[in-house]
Amino acid sequence: MSIKEDVRKAVLSVLPQEAKVTRVEYEGPSIVIFVANPLFVVKHGEYVRTLAKTLKKRIIIRGDESIRRGEEEVKSVIKSLLGDLVDQIYFFKLFGEVYVYLSKPLPEVEVRRIEREVFASTGWRTLIEAGVPKYSVKLSASHIKEVREFAHATEATKKEMLSMLGMRIHRDLALKDFKIAVTTLGGAQEVGRSALLLRTQESTVLIDFGIKPTSTEDELPLFHLAGVDLDELDAVVVTHAHMDHIGSLPLLYKYGYRGPVYMTEPTKYLTYVLLTDYLQIREREGRPPLYSIQDVVDVLAHSITLEYEEVTDIAPDIKLTFYNAGHELGSSIVHLHIGNGLYNVVYTGDFKYGQTRLFDRAHNRFKRVELLIMESTYGGRDDVQPPRHESEQKLIEVIRRTLNKGGKILIPVFSTGRAQEILACINDAISEGGLPKIPIFIDGMVLQTLNIHMMFPSFLSKSMQERILNGENPFVSDHTIPIERAKRPEERVEQVAQIIGSEKPAIILTPHGMLNGGPILDYFAHMAEDSKNLLVFVSYQAEGTLGRRILDLTSQCRRPPGGELTVRTSIGETKVKLEMPCEHIPGFSGHSDRAQLLNYVKDVEPKPQKIMLVHGEPGKILSLAITLELKHKVTTISPKVLETIRLV
Ligand code: ZN
Repeated sequence: MSIKEDVRKAVLSVLPQEAKVTRVEYEGPSIVIFVANPLFVVKHGEYVRTLAKTLKKRIIIRGDESIRRGEEEVKSVIKSLLGDLVDQIYFFKLFGEVYVYLSKPLPEVEVRRIEREVFASTGWRTLIEAGVPKYSVKLSASHIKEVREFAHATEATKKEMLSMLGMRIHRDLALKDFKIAVTTLGGAQEVGRSALLLRTQESTVLIDFGIKPTSTEDELPLFHLAGVDLDELDAVVVTHAHMDHIGSLPLLYKYGYRGPVYMTEPTKYLTYVLLTDYLQIREREGRPPLYSIQDVVDVLAHSITLEYEEVTDIAPDIKLTFYNAGHELGSSIVHLHIGNGLYNVVYTGDFKYGQTRLFDRAHNRFKRVELLIMESTYGGRDDVQPPRHESEQKLIEVIRRTLNKGGKILIPVFSTGRAQEILACINDAISEGGLPKIPIFIDGMVLQTLNIHMMFPSFLSKSMQERILNGENPFVSDHTIPIERAKRPEERVEQVAQIIGSEKPAIILTPHGMLNGGPILDYFAHMAEDSKNLLVFVSYQAEGTLGRRILDLTSQCRRPPGGELTVRTSIGETKVKLEMPCEHIPGFSGHSDRAQLLNYVKDVEPKPQKIMLVHGEPGKILSLAITLELKHKVTTISPKVLETIRLV
């Protein structure tokens, strides 16, 4: 299907002849206009803005192939403008685009200005992105480079998908009469395997597709019971990169889905880190893979990344907008505008309605909201978290006490979210003199995610943005020591023994956050028998994990049966006597606590007609639902997995 005649006419009537329009095409959700005079379009940005408003579409301007300069010339133009800041340059010939990765983030205004300048003088649409920061402690950036290389290698796949998608999104509506329904495929009356299916008579959209880890095999969303063909899916939308929201995504591609998956740019990088890590963990544990690395690459190849607050057509009758969710880097609240404003759904995903060190609190104002789908992880009556500054003070206090005793501190963290928050907190305490200058060892996947945080300051809180743009790195300092895990088990034992056996003080941050595997177990086994050391929990410990067991044992002053715990380290199972004390410091959560959930319902504008509660244990959801119904007088529904609710 070629571009609709009225769209082509609108383009030609708004853009003057001097722009020299040569072609107009659909490309996924966007309208692409090729011009032979890019300088004119850059100088007169007002024409493109008028056009976007008239058509209510994303507009992309590209240089016509005939006027694009040679690659060497383009490179020298870029280098003359950016100098040493250029880290890598990739040409996407099929798109006529050049991607420039920087070795340091620049302010947004500056970036846009240089992009326009390169485009005007070379005819190549230019996209400048922050790259791996060079001025920080040397951290591994292999995953970041792989994401870029895969994007380059799968250019043709993306081009093909976007052409097909353009036709699909801009098809004429078959039915004018609207019915809308939402089905919970997972993550309802439970935490884990989040997945929602939203259907109108015209289109089908899947939001999140996670896994639920259990002690035996991971549980998946019940897609196969929803009666939907993969071919019918118009779009997949991802709120954020945590395994309970993304863990099953590659399965869609394994079984033949070839459509788009919408997410933010940082979510794309974090998704790759988490999914490849998951494959490696399964392999190490001798469990069969759920999917292959190729399926993970397919997720990247079909990703379409969006900025916050950028409206995008994802189906003929559905527009999607992401808003800041304050939960982790790139995490989003999803707004769906259905049937030309007939019905509007806001899905919070996981969200934090409170300021944290890294993120501003979640967005609460929308043009319209009929249904609010809200997470309820901490919706229980007793789920009250202390204020963030109290938790931070307590963390610094327990670290100081342990150091004074000559002990070392072990902090289990997940790769994304808490790890960065805790690192920023400890580094600030050191620079403000609240803690002495002590080595901070970081092991495992946390290393890969630190640079990703530095690459996207615009997704962090205003104050963090400022610090990073001023050349600061809040996550690492001169005291940070990255540990690249030794491959051979004997070497690994030696590596950990050297750190723990040393006389010097140390803080060690490493996954898994619930001690359910990962590099932390090597450190734990070495440290557990020394009562001078300290284990600090800063996140939720789920039932059935070693972390929960330790927490239960130490809080009740009980000793493990036989006085020993079995721990699976790099060299196999080993028994340790637990002498190391542990501290649990709540309040660092990236989720809203009960008060914040209730405040969100009170503050969200406009008032939703209905609230649907998901992502919580049944008891907590029930308690929250009763309060919302009785105190806030709002109709609340709490579906189980695989229930379908008709919205219109
Ligand atoms: Zn999450």
